[in-house]
Amino acid sequence: MSHALLSWARFPNHPQRSVRVPWRSDLPGLLTALRRSVNTTLPFGNGRSYGDSCLAASDHVLVMRALDRIIQVDWDQGLVTVEPGITLGELLAVTVPHGWFLRVTPGTQFVTVGGAIANDVHGKNHHRQGTFGCHVSRLGLFRSTEGQLTCTPTANPALFAATIGGLGLTGVITWAEIQLQRIRSTRINLVTQRFDSIEEFFDLSRELDAQHEFGVAWVDCAAEGTSSGRGVYMAGDFAEDEYLAWTSRRRLSVPFVPPVSMINRVSLRVFNEMYWRSFAPVRKRIHATAESFFYPLDRLRKWNRAYGPRGFQQYQCVIPPDAAAGNIKALLNAIAESKTGSFLAVLKQFGGNKSPGLLSFPRPGVTLALDFPNLPSRTDKLFQRLDAIVRDARGRLYPAKDAHMQAADFQRAYPEWRELESLRDSALNSRFWQRVTQ
Ligand SMILES: Cc1cc2nc3c(=O)[nH]c(=O)nc-3n(C[C@H](O)[C@H](O)[C@H](O)COP(=O)(O)OP(=O)(O)OC[C@H]3O[C@@H](n4cnc5c(N)ncnc54)[C@H](O)[C@@H]3O)c2cc1C
Repeated sequence: MSHALLSWARFPNHPQRSVRVPWRSDLPGLLTALRRSVNTTLPFGNGRSYGDSCLAASDHVLVMRALDRIIQVDWDQGLVTVEPGITLGELLAVTVPHGWFLRVTPGTQFVTVGGAIANDVHGKNHHRQGTFGCHVSRLGLFRSTEGQLTCTPTANPALFAATIGGLGLTGVITWAEIQLQRIRSTRINLVTQRFDSIEEFFDLSRELDAQHEFGVAWVDCAAEGTSSGRGVYMAGDFAEDEYLAWTSRRRLSVPFVPPVSMINRVSLRVFNEMYWRSFAPVRKRIHATAESFFYPLDRLRKWNRAYGPRGFQQYQCVIPPDAAAGNIKALLNAIAESKTGSFLAVLKQFGGNKSPGLLSFPRPGVTLALDFPNLPSRTDKLFQRLDAIVRDARGRLYPAKDAHMQAADFQRAYPEWRELESLRDSALNSRFWQRVTQ
């Protein structure tokens, strides 16, 4: 046992005791020992999930980070087989010089492959490539009763589907085979364009997503009145200029947890106004590095500490297309009225690519994601308002970001949960799963 771990948003505050898995062959013994001592456990990747989906119901997790080896690579086909604890950044450092990139990456390179599969993460190209799980061809799964299994769309297909987006509950992923994407450059040709309303966001998304691999928007969650719904659309593609580099730059870090949150009403308004003004009102074409485009938040290490000792919560929902415009407006109005929120509020259109995952979050529609400092009673009250809008629109929340969803909302939005429960490994359970199903 070693030091205690928390999830990324440092809320809820349930420090996890950790048991490290140094080799795949150690898993059976460690799982049996935990079963005897604390009954259930949960695999833990790199703790980049915000709420309680990466916290074990027993508060004792199996830490997978040491399983970070590349097992096999086919450089002609761009097919890699890796252990689950390798982070996306570590994998890219090896594959980029050979001209291969991940087909799907979330907004941080510090997530593990196991974590990316268990939450079936999405990126800025969901409208083209779907989720991470769409590019996993095979995986190894260790189950406490059956031992080691190989799962593919045709071998153990039910377990394959349930493990993609399966929240770490179906077994411990011990390896995965992933299809990569050919690239000729790590530079991104970027198009930026400001918009003044949600209607304009939809117009830009329709136009630019049809032309570009990547598309995402920043939205000013503090803007009210005539400025409400303003933001910046960013669309892009990999360049073709034969520049393949992956250098992990030295990063600044938030050295300690300040006594109060540094993100407040004043700093939020000032930052958002400055950020908005930093973009020209007309369409611009610029170059960016892949690292700054995909992982802007990774530049500041441990930024989660800036929210102070109470931590924060992320709210990420998806609203189906027919109800999207009005409901995104209603969500933004409620957030602006609450005078809280975060700098990085993100809007993105999901596409129609269906994931193989049973419980995957993305579905066609628009997703809105932003962080909120944890303020007693205020955050709860705001989330109740937001939940009512999402419920009426028949939308749903993202378990990887969640620390508050009500059981009834989860079960309505994810009716497949019973099937996952029937395939859950009885040695594994999370605080999230307990909260929303038990
Ligand atoms: C700055 C930032 C930006 C983000 N951007 C995005 C985004 O754009 N899109 C998106 O989808 N998500 C995003 N996320 C969320 C993040 O990608 C997911 O929460 C991801 O699953 C975290 O991976 P992790 O390795 O840290 O795993 P953890 O958070 O530690 O665990 C996540 C889940 O994986 C399970 N797990 C871990 N390893 C294994 C294993 N070996 N076998 C079985 N289960 C396992 C755990 O039990 C848990 O259920 C972002 C997070 C941050 C902090």
